Amino acid sequence: MDRAFGLTDCIRLEVGEPNFPTPQHVLDAADKAARSGKTRYTENPGIPELRARIAGIFTADTGRDTKMEDVVVTTGAMAALYTTLMSIANPDDEVIVMSPSWPNYLMQMTLLGIRPVMVSTNESNGHVPTIEQLESALTDRTKAVLINSPCNPTGAVIDQTQMSEIIEFARRADIYVISDEVYDKIVFEGTHASAASQDSDGRVVCIHSFSKTYSMTGWRVGYAVAPPAIAALVRKCQEPTVSCVNAPAQYAALAALDGPQEIISEMRDAYRERRDEVNRLLSSSGISALKPGGAFYMWIDVSSSQRSDVDFAMDLVDKHQVTVVPGSTFGPGNEDRVRISLATAPDQLYEGIRRLIEETGS
Ligand code: PLP
Repeated sequence: MDRAFGLTDCIRLEVGEPNFPTPQHVLDAADKAARSGKTRYTENPGIPELRARIAGIFTADTGRDTKMEDVVVTTGAMAALYTTLMSIANPDDEVIVMSPSWPNYLMQMTLLGIRPVMVSTNESNGHVPTIEQLESALTDRTKAVLINSPCNPTGAVIDQTQMSEIIEFARRADIYVISDEVYDKIVFEGTHASAASQDSDGRVVCIHSFSKTYSMTGWRVGYAVAPPAIAALVRKCQEPTVSCVNAPAQYAALAALDGPQEIISEMRDAYRERRDEVNRLLSSSGISALKPGGAFYMWIDVSSSQRSDVDFAMDLVDKHQVTVVPGSTFGPGNEDRVRISLATAPDQLYEGIRRLIEETGS
């Protein structure tokens, strides 16, 4: 990114945020909130109207009876994850996490002194961990398994059957499931399977966000939906860290839920179209990439370039002015991959992919 910033006309395929504007009615709601004096600290876990609205939607979406008290509105999903980890695990406890996975999980665990136990997923199992793999990662220090469907960076989607097996595994092991579902509305085929829909005994914490669903990355609003005891801890952890989420942004989030929802399917359809075209460009050049079932990334095999992921990414930016994320950013064992984002304007995206194909030598 540093090298890219020095270049004019760089094609940025590394950034993970929608290239769509935040909807106008959301901007208006924030403006109205700020001008009408909603500029003070709010209730620590979020304004009651937003939490109640989220609880209603969550109950309808997952079938898990959810009360306002189970919802904590946070500074993006990032803070929801951080305070959830803080609430569930003590220093030296272990949390099972996949490789590849979003790098912030490991960074957060490092800050909290939690030991990550990595499980490698691969293309042959669709980048979904098997129960045998999870079983073999268990120790008497394991507190939780952290899953992410649809997945950043692979786009893998955990289906209903796989999800119920994972929840059953957690039940047998008596550990929590932290389920990062920030891409739940970006599923290309079929429907999203929420971990909460299988949760019969209060062991699932779901992490959600307004960032990707409503193109609101900079507003920093997310939330955790947790069993009562964990929700209470998450709320307590929020007080000394951020107190509460920015007040106008909470009203903006409420407007996003109450307003027209077409933006969600419009963005999803746009990403699907881009996925299909990128998939076509890559496969016609013999480059392998898992066709993502959701989210807006592609996980591309660049081993034909005969270079490491980092060298390949550096050459791509220096020679072709295209930025991608080296695979090893997402954990060990991914040195033959790079991640690109489909949330980039199509003309830039397709040109970037052409240059990437050229650099692989395919
Ligand atoms: N979880 C995953 C898997 C992500 O990819 C991201 C952002 O890229 C987040 C969480 C963070 O979302 P937020 O912007 O709500 O903090």
